[in-house]
Amino acid sequence: EELTERVGFHDEYAENFEDVAANIFAPIYPVISQQIINRCQIKSGNFIDVGSGPASLAIALGEIVDGKVYAMDFSEKMLAIAKRKIESFDLNENVIPIFGDVHDMPFEDCFADLIVSRGSLFFWQNVPEAFREIYRVLKSGGMAYIGGGFGTAELKSKITQAMEKRDPEWSKCVGKRLDRTNLESFKKALHVAGIDPYTIIDDESGFWICLKKVD
Ligand code: SAM
Repeated sequence: EELTERVGFHDEYAENFEDVAANIFAPIYPVISQQIINRCQIKSGNFIDVGSGPASLAIALGEIVDGKVYAMDFSEKMLAIAKRKIESFDLNENVIPIFGDVHDMPFEDCFADLIVSRGSLFFWQNVPEAFREIYRVLKSGGMAYIGGGFGTAELKSKITQAMEKRDPEWSKCVGKRLDRTNLESFKKALHVAGIDPYTIIDDESGFWICLKKVD
């Protein structure tokens, strides 16, 4: 079961996820992007949203930063949806959809000032390898903000109510992703990847790993 969970964000979920992201999750992305900027204090340069899906976070970030935001995903279907959405926000110049797998990212070493990722790490097949790859792509002094969550307790409770109506299994699924054992496994993965120091944010904004490349 663990394996299907990790492997399984298949293309066929793309349309359904876009519908959920556009209609139910929409208000979380501006809140989360502002939290990221407040916490990381990086407002210009090259940004990457890893596992960006319909690019909701990349777009929200693109609206408040200077520079380019690369919306990277390994699902062609998600990228097609992202492209349409970026066009509808008239952000083609700033938000760039790009095909790529977190385990082998299509960016040169030391490219990014800030790498963000929401709700994607639960599906990565080799989390230490993914962290190493993210670290490689970061500039020295660059930061990564990776995790999952809904921004505030109020947003989480509103979304939980709406999602429970669509899918009674939803809370169970989210609870499993964010359970202690799973969170501990991410800390272990950071250790295996040799990444230190990092900060864990575990509060009403969600569960986020915040790391800075130092060398
Ligand atoms: N970040 C978006 C959001 O918060 O709205 C989408 C989250 S969705 C739950 C997870 C996304 O991660 C999917 O679009 C999936 O295709 C992508 N993903 C999963 N594994 C990936 C990998 N190894 N490399 C790149 N993208 C991946």
